[in-house]
Amino acid sequence: MTPVLELRSVSAAYGPFRALFDVSLTVNPGEVLALVGSNGVGKTTVARVASGLVAPTSGSVFLGGVDMTGRKPYRFARAGVAHATEGRSVFATLSVEDNLTLSFARARGRKGVRSGLEIAYELFPVLERRRRQAAGTLSGGEQRMLSMARVMVEVPKILIADELSLGLAPKITMELYASLERLRAEGTALLIVEQHVAHALRLCDRVAMLDHGTVSWTGSGTEATSVVAQFLEPSH
Ligand code: ATP
Repeated sequence: MTPVLELRSVSAAYGPFRALFDVSLTVNPGEVLALVGSNGVGKTTVARVASGLVAPTSGSVFLGGVDMTGRKPYRFARAGVAHATEGRSVFATLSVEDNLTLSFARARGRKGVRSGLEIAYELFPVLERRRRQAAGTLSGGEQRMLSMARVMVEVPKILIADELSLGLAPKITMELYASLERLRAEGTALLIVEQHVAHALRLCDRVAMLDHGTVSWTGSGTEATSVVAQFLEPSH
């Protein structure tokens, strides 16, 4: 099976600072890979490499078997990668629907708007109920949903979700994860980056653990549940 995403011996750096060393990982179609590890080990950098935001200094990135190394992020997006970055990137004074419309029109032109809205409201029903509300007045969890929906003009081949649960109440985190389940049911593969691993472990098929910019352990979700706890510091 051709992986939807493959990193082959990827190293990456920010100027002189080397953040990743020889990282190899694959995500197969429809598969959920959780990338775990404590603060500053390189999880976000892997996410950025996987969506073209950071170009590797060596090694390669493949999407569906196609070498994308060095290509621009919009080429990654067109190839089916949606990257929900850390934090909530929404225009506070615009309505929910205007936020979505703006992103979809920019990504795909007017013709992308209708299908984008349909997908967004199916995955995140609360956004439809609040579509006329100013984004700045949404709850933290709803803003997170909106920022995720904004990167999905169409059902992505792979969604990269970075620190979804950061700063959110457990109930909201569960709602967010329920929307990931819906995406997965549509056939989307997921690369979930999480410092607080409990939710990710329940959903994932496989786990890759990062340590100081290298993959230190990989295994199935079930194996990880017992193993990961020994490696990670308590999350609270
Ligand atoms: P966290 O969970 O804290 O977000 P992480 O595992 O996602 O951490 P990264 O954000 O990938 O780790 O960071 C890996 C290393 O690269 C860290 O030492 C970080 O300080 C550094 N780094 C990240 N982004 C930049 C940047 N834009 N410029 C310089 N250094 C950076």
